[in-house]
Amino acid sequence: MDDSTGSILKALRFSAKKHNDQRRKDEKASPYINHPIQVAETLWSVGGVRDVNLLVAAILHDTIEDTDTTPEEIRVEFGDEVLSLVLEVTDDKSLPKQVRKQLQIEHAPHKSDKAKLLKLSDKINNVDDMVQSPPSTWSLERKQEYLLWTEKVVAGLRGVNPKLEDCFDELLAKGKHALGLE
Ligand code: NDP
Ligand code: ZN
Repeated sequence: MDDSTGSILKALRFSAKKHNDQRRKDEKASPYINHPIQVAETLWSVGGVRDVNLLVAAILHDTIEDTDTTPEEIRVEFGDEVLSLVLEVTDDKSLPKQVRKQLQIEHAPHKSDKAKLLKLSDKINNVDDMVQSPPSTWSLERKQEYLLWTEKVVAGLRGVNPKLEDCFDELLAKGKHALGLE
């Protein structure tokens, strides 16, 4: 084992602690940490990603957006590249939600290739969750709108990793079918 194993373990420990009191929106209110673990593992197993900083950033990708984690903490613990990747996938929560949603669509094509991969894996797992373990209070219409919005964001993330794109396309098609969109 080399240092990369230690970096992954450190990121898991850090992220698990930060997301400790947070839950997913599904009926069982699953532990939130399941999601960043899935996003990192999808990059590895579907996307063939072996870049440790990208895998570490995937594990940390929602910490600044959703917890009290500061950019400085990430920089000190994991370095400048990991911080830069996490910031690239962090929404500005001071903006209204509809503006944030629109900006994700507009900004996607201008992200770095690594950030595009991370966002793609995030969308893969959120679309899968939207079908397998959806937010318990959401109407069918809201779930449908979510899938259609995700498709627009992913349009700007294409051209970097065909395997992740194919995985997204397959899950989106299944999701649309399951939610009565086609
Ligand atoms: P949110 O951003 O509030 O919620 C979706 C996010 O929640 C995901 O991107 C994911 O983000 C996280 N998440 C947590 N648990 C789950 C889970 N079990 N399954 C999937 N995702 C989960 O979504 P919006 O409020 O923006 O709603 C989405 C769409 O619905 C928008 O297009 C909006 O216009 C529309 N809408 C419709 C309403 C209606 O009543 N019809 C009301 C409000 C919005 P992460 O990766 O960061 O965890
Ligand atoms: Zn996420």
